[in-house]
Amino acid sequence: MKPMDEQHFAILRRHMVEVIAIHADLMSDELGRAKLDGRVLAAMGRVPRHLFVPLELAAVAYHDGPLPIGFDKTISQPFICALMTDLLAPEPDEVVLEVGTGLGYQAAVLAELAARVWSVEIVEELAGEAGLRLRRLGASNIGIRIGDGSRGWAEHAPYDRIMVTAAADNPPSALLDQLRPGGRLVMPLGPADAQILTVIDKDAAGTLYAREFLPVRFSRLETVL
Ligand code: SAH
Repeated sequence: MKPMDEQHFAILRRHMVEVIAIHADLMSDELGRAKLDGRVLAAMGRVPRHLFVPLELAAVAYHDGPLPIGFDKTISQPFICALMTDLLAPEPDEVVLEVGTGLGYQAAVLAELAARVWSVEIVEELAGEAGLRLRRLGASNIGIRIGDGSRGWAEHAPYDRIMVTAAADNPPSALLDQLRPGGRLVMPLGPADAQILTVIDKDAAGTLYAREFLPVRFSRLETVL
């Protein structure tokens, strides 16, 4: 069999976006609406997901499921990635912090929608790989740092939006501190087998409001003591 080329991947990517839309429709009771933001779906339709998985998994990159990226980590299912991006709702002039770069797929999607993305990854090899992939793609509005993202990235704070793609029992206080008033954080919260995708809004006075969405399963946010 010959290898897949860009045309094949483009068709699979269109299908992925359609499957995400079906998934959102099926979850409309849980989500309180039947459709995700068209800008998010368009961004997912542009980012070449097959370049953000290990080479040997490129052919299955557009399946609506998570995939292993090494180091016991996974790239999230496309529907979950789309939903988290939709819930985060970054605007074109906004600055986003992502915690948990992995191989950089979510960062690439966010960079399609926001002015600037700063992403922190604790596994050095993943951060390096993500940097390579994003550079190859020509994404110029993403900065990556190796480190413990539960401490945020103070240098570029405050952030309009923060997305954490690893789970913890509670949102790290440094991240809440680095969120601007009027900003929003999206993160899976809870124990290993019962995490809930949660949106936390900070109002102009600095008060936090949490809203819970779907049960999800993410790897843990590691903390360095
Ligand atoms: N956003 C990624 C998915 C990453 S999976 C994507 O789009 O594919 C979660 C990632 O969080 C893993 O790469 C893991 O190494 C990273 N991680 C875990 N704890 C972390 C921490 N404290 N700081 C930064 N990254 C962390």
